[in-house]
Amino acid sequence: MRALTEQDIRTSFINCSKGEAKRLAVPRGLEARPWDDLDFLGWRDPGAPDRSYVVVEREGRPVGVALRFQPAQRGFLHRSMCSLCLTTHPRGGVSLMTARKAGAAGREGNSVGAYMCTDLACSLYLRGLKVPESGARFEESLTLEEQIDRTRRNLFAFLDTL
Ligand SMILES: [Zn+2]
Repeated sequence: MRALTEQDIRTSFINCSKGEAKRLAVPRGLEARPWDDLDFLGWRDPGAPDRSYVVVEREGRPVGVALRFQPAQRGFLHRSMCSLCLTTHPRGGVSLMTARKAGAAGREGNSVGAYMCTDLACSLYLRGLKVPESGARFEESLTLEEQIDRTRRNLFAFLDTL
């Protein structure tokens, strides 16, 4: 994806207020991110461990979403799969991320959730640049390009529910 600036990121959020978008923790060292290998930028808020954020470029503009995640619970599935990149992880590697809906629905407390890689490093797993704790991803018959395309479509489908 195209490299994003802090300003691009702060103005991209569709499900939080302007004030929240201004205050949220944007990662340091943006210029050093491996943009060429990222299909979206995802990060966790170091000051608020239950919060994470995703920004993806859609139709030429960045779209950001603020997420909350529930830490894996005891007795939770041993392995689970990310609904974006379809990588399987052992416990804790996938978390249920919930996003407040945009606009009035969100202000009324409505949210939607999806299981995602806890570290939001889907792009790196797809490319083999990061390996899940349980070992290599399953072999897919799709090409990397097709897997990237599928991941982006899965993310867009999630954004469409906000
Ligand atoms: Zn993933």
